[in-house]
Amino acid sequence: MILHQVSESCFAVLNEKNLVCDANSGLINLGGGVVVDTQSDLAHGRRMIELFGKVWPGMPKRVVNTHEDADHVWGNQLFAGAEIIAHRTVAERMPRVAEPKETQQLLKAADGFLSSLLLRVLHPGALAIARQLAQDYDFDGIKLVLPTTLFEERHVLDLDGTEVRVIFVGPCHQAGDTIVHVPGEGVLFAGDVLFRLCTPMGWVGSFARWIEILDLIISLDPEAIVPGHGPVCGIEGAMEMKAYLEYLRNESRRCYEQGLSSLEASKRIDLGPYGAWRAPARLYLNVERAYREFRNEPEDAPWDSAKSFDAIYSVARARGVEVEF
Ligand SMILES: [Zn+2]
Repeated sequence: MILHQVSESCFAVLNEKNLVCDANSGLINLGGGVVVDTQSDLAHGRRMIELFGKVWPGMPKRVVNTHEDADHVWGNQLFAGAEIIAHRTVAERMPRVAEPKETQQLLKAADGFLSSLLLRVLHPGALAIARQLAQDYDFDGIKLVLPTTLFEERHVLDLDGTEVRVIFVGPCHQAGDTIVHVPGEGVLFAGDVLFRLCTPMGWVGSFARWIEILDLIISLDPEAIVPGHGPVCGIEGAMEMKAYLEYLRNESRRCYEQGLSSLEASKRIDLGPYGAWRAPARLYLNVERAYREFRNEPEDAPWDSAKSFDAIYSVARARGVEVEF
């Protein structure tokens, strides 16, 4: 984990492995401090606080959660007494999508002798992701702390005269997607609207909405973007991800019309330059999302997580790439 100065008053803490759960956090070091996203477990949250502590004068008064996914909210409890700002849907959905019990149980099952044998047979992908997560994360002790300030469209902060715009842009990757724009510093914290140099994963929303929001980010013309995952970039990062989504949607359409399943399509689609991104087999989630759209299924249709991990696992095996999530 490293501390990166993005502008005069904006900083990021980056998880350089760039695998699932390796989410970034941001800091706007003005007006008592605002932290953007709180990491995936308590050890990473504490390390983030320690790194930001090198530049801030005291614990920040405010936190923004860019959406409801676990890897962005599981350090919330470390900010006792802080105002936690998020979109209205984040408070509604967090208890469902970021309930730590399921992940805690999965990691325990992967660690047990008999239960891991069973997992290997029934859900090899779930076993593989549990083993990967156990290398870097410990989800014990996590308690959900919900946002305290909810907003609808946007929430504007004045930090010592610097305007910070907290803007709802969901649902494109998740229902509560929010970006944080600091125009005076030329910085934009994109949450998981932007995955950089790793394969994006989306849960709720549509390709069209996601592409529209990437266009919005490009039109805001920030000098630096802190993505939810991956290294800090400029607008070329948003352009590349937009191109990926458009390419993937087109390729998925072609496969769908040929009658291939989403799993089969994920094994066959030529990834071109995107094959060098981290966890390329996660493309399955994007192909499946495209198929759901072609079938006119609702944007918030639930995901079977064990089945999805198994699919990613089998795509990686079929492609002969490392099994990583
Ligand atoms: Zn994330």
